[in-house]
Amino acid sequence: MIDHMSLHINILTLFPDMFPGSLGFSLSGRALENKIWSYHAVNIRDFATDIHKSVDAPPFGGGAGMVMRPDTIESALLSLPSSGKKIYMSPRGKPLTQKRVQEFSQTETLTLLCGRYEGVDQRVLDTHDFEEISIGDYVLSGGEPAALILMDACIRLLPEVMGNTTTTDEESFSNGLLEYPHYTKPDPWIDTHGHTHTVPTLLKSGHHKNIIQWREDQSLALTQERRPDLLEKT
Ligand code: SAM
Repeated sequence: MIDHMSLHINILTLFPDMFPGSLGFSLSGRALENKIWSYHAVNIRDFATDIHKSVDAPPFGGGAGMVMRPDTIESALLSLPSSGKKIYMSPRGKPLTQKRVQEFSQTETLTLLCGRYEGVDQRVLDTHDFEEISIGDYVLSGGEPAALILMDACIRLLPEVMGNTTTTDEESFSNGLLEYPHYTKPDPWIDTHGHTHTVPTLLKSGHHKNIIQWREDQSLALTQERRPDLLEKT
């Protein structure tokens, strides 16, 4: 249960204009207008001290690419009135799961560091206690899309964001299972090839108890088929 009313998210980035991005639309956009959540995107480059406004440098030890400097990141971090839980979006991080999302959405302030190039100097991560979080086993060109994903998942759990549109405790992962399939009008539906598709009869029976049971069975079968690893965890 989330007991605070709003979530503030700081983003340390080289591309502040990427925020709020998709989160300015739909339910999260309305929640932003209603101050259920707020954000502050800080341009790390504003804290560069040399004439070239450098935020990166070649890696010690050689190798391809550039690494983001610790000093500019630290100055950007220290410019914040409050940083709360600090997260570095990183393919090396622990996986982002619904459980972690629930945990993050319960904090009042999050600070998300978005890397670019080959990543970030390790010392600033260690010194300022950043937890590394990954959105999946693939490599993005920057942390901003990953931060938007983490933010989206957290914001939709805040009180009043979803209204009555869904109950989040019935969704995929909340109970350790994938969600059951959904059906809506029309019924029957005739596709463009002329094939007729009907909705499972039980869902139209009005028999609430049987419907709940059917959905539980479907959830379990789907999880066994697609994500047996989720069942091993419970
Ligand atoms: N050299 C790094 C490596 O091999 O682990 C990849 C750096 S990546 C090109 C640049 C930035 O994108 C990272 O610093 C990180 O902030 C972000 N990023 C890339 N993949 C990500 C993922 N799966 N989850 C979260 N952030 C990611």
